[in-house]
Parts: sequence; structure tokens; C-alpha cells
Amino acid sequence: MKTILIKNISLKNRIVDILIEGNTFKQIDQNIIVKADKIIDGTNKAIIQPFYNMHTHSSMTLLRGYGDDMRLFEWLSEYIWPQEAKLTPEDIYNGTRLAIVEMIRSGTVFFLDMYWHHEAIIRAVEEMKVRASIGVTFIEERGKTEIEENINFINNFKPSSDLITINVAPHAIYTVGKDLYQELFKVAKENNLKFNTHLSETIKEVKDCREANNNLTPTEYLDSIGVLDHNTIAAHCVHLTEHDAEILSSRGVTLVHNPCANMKLASGAFNVPLVNKYECKVCLGTDGTSSNNNLSMMEEMKFAALLAKVSYNDTALLSANQVFAWATKNGAKAMGINSGSIKEGKLADCLIVDLNSDRLIPNHNLISNWVYSADSRCIETVICNGNILMEDRIIPNEAEILEKAKRTII
Ligand SMILES: [Zn+2]
Repeated sequence: MKTILIKNISLKNRIVDILIEGNTFKQIDQNIIVKADKIIDGTNKAIIQPFYNMHTHSSMTLLRGYGDDMRLFEWLSEYIWPQEAKLTPEDIYNGTRLAIVEMIRSGTVFFLDMYWHHEAIIRAVEEMKVRASIGVTFIEERGKTEIEENINFINNFKPSSDLITINVAPHAIYTVGKDLYQELFKVAKENNLKFNTHLSETIKEVKDCREANNNLTPTEYLDSIGVLDHNTIAAHCVHLTEHDAEILSSRGVTLVHNPCANMKLASGAFNVPLVNKYECKVCLGTDGTSSNNNLSMMEEMKFAALLAKVSYNDTALLSANQVFAWATKNGAKAMGINSGSIKEGKLADCLIVDLNSDRLIPNHNLISNWVYSADSRCIETVICNGNILMEDRIIPNEAEILEKAKRTII
């Protein structure tokens, strides 16, 4: 089995050696003597867990900067939807590879996706060797044939590696009706897959839902039709009542906070005191690059912490440690991936960070620096499942991937 030995690296302020065997952290100790296939010198470097981006639409990289700073409906109907309709599977493949390059460079090894042309996304993920759960996405408007084809695809899907899975992704309550939600929930359950949906993103969504459904909030509505459980992943959850938070917590739903997109689209501020009070399961995601406009989970952590503090006038709210857990181990846990921390027996996902970087000096507290100060330049090497995806800031094939994306004009 392939082995990597990382020598003299800082792990939680302790200098250790770390042996990776195959896809696992085999041994963490001082002075490991072993003949390894590869040795990495960790002097003046730290090892840290990578990011798990729990909500994105990866290939929307192609729409980065295409229509910003306008009203939501005008932006969607005049810019985003017409462009999305033109995207071919090859465009999606090129856009996803661009997204994965960006994610690797900014320390992300897993993403939970929701978009069209899932087969093209799977092809890109297989090639780039990151972890991903790719959404097979449903909107009623796209017609019965596509819905049937998608369900058929889900029922017959065989992953090509442990790194890849699919999820069942009804887009939202305003694009998917009750019967289809219930059918898809059943499909997800039968195939033991995650059920991935947008929820309570805007005030309009809540208002329309109350008007159409006997004053039920979107969370109450989804609960009333029986589609919330521990496999449900709900993106945004900006506008929640006490009762909503209670339901989401008791059903074991994973909430995904997307602070940059929520601010850019003026959706509102995630209610951190409320989700803390009900001990909801919370992760972080970037959302797509058309509403962010990048895929940096580092920026997402910082914005999440700052937005919480200013929204609730409480500087102690959402500490660096808490938001770091949301961005890392909570995502791995929600997806059932045995990773998210640097420990013997865990899957070998990690970042090697340059402690000589200007943003990390002085190093009073690495997690504080990581959340409030660092940027992608601090990340030197990225390892996912024991595979080196970026070494000394070099990602193989990066030039070709960027060039193809540049030439993908839509
Ligand atoms: Zn989204």
C-alpha cells in the first residue's frame, strides 16, 4: 500500500510525524521511523483538516460575474435562467473542473452539488479525485420525461469509487409540488441517499408558502408531508421560527448556512442564536459562484462569524472554533465520511499550511488566524483520501483546465 510520511509538522501546537497508509492516517507520533514511498518535510508547517462545502452549484463558475448588483427577479429571469438554458454537458464538465481547481486551491476536498447534467459533473469529479455528492436535481417544470429519467438514473447508479455518491435533490418548495417531494423522498430512502433541498431562503418564499398552505412555514409544510429526517440537507434556512428550529433539530435535519450568497442576494441573516438554542446540526456552504462569487470556504467562515456578530450585536456569538467546526468536521459527519479531523484511523483528508505566510504570523492561535486572517495563499498542499491533489501549490493539469474554461463562452 502507498505510504506518505509527513515529518516534523505542527498538529494542534505539537510537533509530530504523521504516516498515511493508503487512504488512512495510520500513525501519529513523535519520530516515526519507517521507509515511506514519499516523505514531506513539515518544518514550519501545520496540518489542519480541510473544508467540506455542503451547498454549491459547482458549474455555475461559468456564470461568475455575469449580472451582479440587481434585483433578484430581474437577475434570475433576464440573466441566469436564459444562460443556464444554453449550457451543454461539455460546458458543465468544463465549469465543474474550473470549480474543482478553485476548491482544491482554497482547501476544499468535498462538495455537495445541485445542478443539471449530473453525468457531466460526475465525469469531472472522477477525473479530479475529490470527494463529492452530486445532486440529481428536480424541477416540475422540466417535464415528466426528465423526472422519470432522473429517477431511473438514481435507481441504477453504481458509484465508480468511494469518493463519489449522488443525492436526490428536489430544488425547492416553489418548484417542486407535494407529490413529487414525497415520491423523491421515497426514492432517496430506498437507495439510502441524502435528500438535498433549498429551504426558507427568502421572505417571499415564506410568505407564499403561508398563503398557499394554511399558514404553514416552509419547514412546517415539508414536515407535514413527511420529508424531513436525518438524511435531509436543507440549504439556507435563513427565515426560521422557534417552531421551525425545533422541528429541524428533532428530525435531525442538517442546515447549511451560506452567508455570502445570503448577503449578496439580500436574503437575510441566518439565525445563529436560534440554531444554537435548539442545537441544530449546522454546516457551511458557498452556494454557486453567480451569487457569491467564489468557492472559498475561508471567506465563508469569516463572513458567517462577522454576519452573526453584527446581526445580533454580540461579539461573542459564533466563535472561530464553532464556525471552523461548521466548515469542516460537521460536513464530513453529516455525509457519513470518516474524516474531518486529523486522527489515527480517520480517512487521510488534510491541508498542509505554510506557517511562514504573512497572514499566519504571529501564530497565537491558528484557528483564529485561519478564520479571520488567512487566505488561500497559506495552503501549500492538499491531500484527499491519501491522494495528493495539490503539492507545493501545484495542481496537475491546472493550466489546461483554466484555458478550457476561458474558452467556454456561453
Ligand atoms: Zn443554492
